[in-house]
Amino acid sequence: MKTKERYVFLQCKECGNRTYTTHKRQKATYKLEKKKYCPFCRKHLPHKEHKL
Ligand SMILES: [Zn+2]
Repeated sequence: MKTKERYVFLQCKECGNRTYTTHKRQKATYKLEKKKYCPFCRKHLPHKEHKL
């Protein structure tokens, strides 16, 4: 059986820019949150998952 994946945005918590896209398994219930570099805020900030 194939693992279905869906694409999600990673949205900056500070400015709300959706700089990154990533994918995760469709049945995954956890919320993605990653610390990434935001070019708009010019620093590393937590990015929260947002539906595509
Ligand atoms: Zn930002």
